[in-house]
Amino acid sequence: MFAIKRELKVNNKERSLMRGIAGFKRFVYNYGLDLIAASWDWEDVRGSDAKRIDTIKKVFTQVTMKKPEYAWMNKYPSTVYQSAFIALKKSFDSWRKGLTDFPKKKCKKKGDSFTVYKTSGIYPEKGKPALPFTNRVVIDAGKIIKLPGLKTFRLKEKIDFTCSSQTFTVDRIADKWFVSLAVDAQKIPPIYHPVQKVGVDLGVKCLATVSDGTCYAMPATTKRAKTKLSKLLLHNRNKKHGHKKLGIGASNNAKRYYIELAREYARISNIRRDTIQKMTTDLSRRVYCIRIEDLNVSGMMANHKLASAVTDNCFYEVRRQLIYKQAHYGTKVEIVDRWYPSSKMCSNCRHIQPMKLSERVFRCQKCNHVQDRDENASVNLENAPDNVVRSARPELTPVDKKWPTTLVEAGRKR
Ligand SMILES: [Zn+2]
Repeated sequence: MFAIKRELKVNNKERSLMRGIAGFKRFVYNYGLDLIAASWDWEDVRGSDAKRIDTIKKVFTQVTMKKPEYAWMNKYPSTVYQSAFIALKKSFDSWRKGLTDFPKKKCKKKGDSFTVYKTSGIYPEKGKPALPFTNRVVIDAGKIIKLPGLKTFRLKEKIDFTCSSQTFTVDRIADKWFVSLAVDAQKIPPIYHPVQKVGVDLGVKCLATVSDGTCYAMPATTKRAKTKLSKLLLHNRNKKHGHKKLGIGASNNAKRYYIELAREYARISNIRRDTIQKMTTDLSRRVYCIRIEDLNVSGMMANHKLASAVTDNCFYEVRRQLIYKQAHYGTKVEIVDRWYPSSKMCSNCRHIQPMKLSERVFRCQKCNHVQDRDENASVNLENAPDNVVRSARPELTPVDKKWPTTLVEAGRKR
């Protein structure tokens, strides 16, 4: 199973429809959260969070939706509010497990998204499972997509093959709308990899240094884009997006600025994502066995000088992608123990000597071997003895549902 994500080509009418649906979803989610908070100590609604949310859903469909002032809700597909309640259940679930904070209200500024799905399949008999594939929407190859409960939409980039999916998530980044769907198919892994084994050193200066001599760097465009962003922030440091309490709306200039700001942030994130995806794919195509270091990312985050580089180069994300691409490209990812002295060891004579973080070149005091710091580390990772190496296991979902935040990348938050 893997995910397909495409940008939608929307006109103004479709754009406001999308905004409307996302607003509906947000309303339902916040409505559920409000009612849970209000009824937290009530005796007669005790039970698990899921049961409580089911009760609230009943109140929502049987009382609230029937009120005339909420008639606008009926023009949107019912799966939107269904999935909002599912999302609410999930956030309570992960809060109970201690993975996240207590669910917060969704707000308009934090982006728009909603989920629609095909409701049910064809059941041969009562109580028996649905016939295979009848609960799925078939998507033909091409640039048109039909979302369940909604009309057809145009895509900016075509879908290469006919496929099927049940759930469709639409979300907005800056002023662009995207649809993502999980496709139940397998990529056929290649049988032949030209390179047998490499070590990969994830670095601060260079994104990744590979022991066969290649080096992947973040493109210079990220730096330029960041400079542009800081200039933009500086020049508009006094701009306010209106004042809600005083009833002052945002000026046209401010509106324009905030859209441009969102675009700039999205652009930097796009460049980074693109580079990292291309790098991990290229590596997985070329090499059979990839050895990476088990990084203590949260320790590195505590070092302020390293922190920015760590989040910029997305160590955690690189590792996650290499691991889940094992299945797609038939590779083997191995993790070398955190305490293995990959950067302090001479790759020529295995002599261990202290290395400051600022030293960029490794000069062996025993055999006078001279090598670039990262290259030396990558060769050491490749030649690591088997007792410090373990094979990596993929995380639960291979689907890129959400681009992780900096905290997620740093491994501080899941
Ligand atoms: Zn040496």
